[in-house]
Amino acid sequence: MVRLFIISGPSGAGKTTLISRLFKKPLIRKNFLCAVSFTTRRKRRGEKENEDYFFVNKREFQQLRRQGFFLETQRVLNDFYGTPKFYVDRAAKEGKDLILCIDVKGGKYLKNKFRQSKIIGIFVMTEDEEELYRRLKKRQELTRSIAQRVSLAKKELKYLKYYDYVITNQDLEESVKNLEAVLRAEQLKKCEVV
Ligand code: 5GP
Repeated sequence: MVRLFIISGPSGAGKTTLISRLFKKPLIRKNFLCAVSFTTRRKRRGEKENEDYFFVNKREFQQLRRQGFFLETQRVLNDFYGTPKFYVDRAAKEGKDLILCIDVKGGKYLKNKFRQSKIIGIFVMTEDEEELYRRLKKRQELTRSIAQRVSLAKKELKYLKYYDYVITNQDLEESVKNLEAVLRAEQLKKCEVV
C-alpha cells in the first residue's frame, strides 16, 4: 500500500525548497517519489518545466480534467492546479511512498475521498506573517500577488487541525531533518506492513 504524504502550507513557507533539499538524500530518493503537479499559472523566474510543474494553459488543463487524468484538482487564487493520477501507480510499482505538495483544500479532499492509501498530512509554516511577507517579496512576486498570498495564508491556517504534523520552517537544515524524521517514522510503523 502506497502511503500518501501531503505537504501543505502557505505559499512562501518554503515547501518547495524543503522538498528539493530532502530529495538530495539518496535514502529519500530510494523510498519516496514526489509528484509534479500541473498548473495553469505562469512560470516564475528559475522554475523548470517538468521539475517544478507541468505548465499548461486553462484549456489544456480542463481537457485533462475531463479525461479523468487528475487525482484531485483545485483552484488557488486565479489558477488551477492538479495532481496526476499516474504517480500513485508509479509509486506502487517502484515500492515507494508518494509525496504531494498541494494546497489545504486538496489535502482535505484527499483525506476524505482517497481511501486506497494511508494519508499523512504535514503542515509547513513560517513563524509569523512578517517572515512570510519577506520571503514572498524575495521571490519577486508582484505586490498584489503578495497581498493575495498573505491573505490566503490566514485562511489556510484554519486547516491546520486536519494535519498530523507541523513544521515551523525557521532554520532550513533543521526543518529538513524534522521532515525526514516524520517520513521515516511513518514508514517504520509496523501496522502498515503486517
Ligand atoms: P504556487 O503557485 O505558490 O506554486 O502554489 C500555490 C498553491 O498551490 C500552493 O499551496 C501549492 O502547494 C498548491 N498546489 C500545487 N500543486 C497543487 C496540486 O496539484 N493540487 C493542489 N490542490 N494544490 C496544489
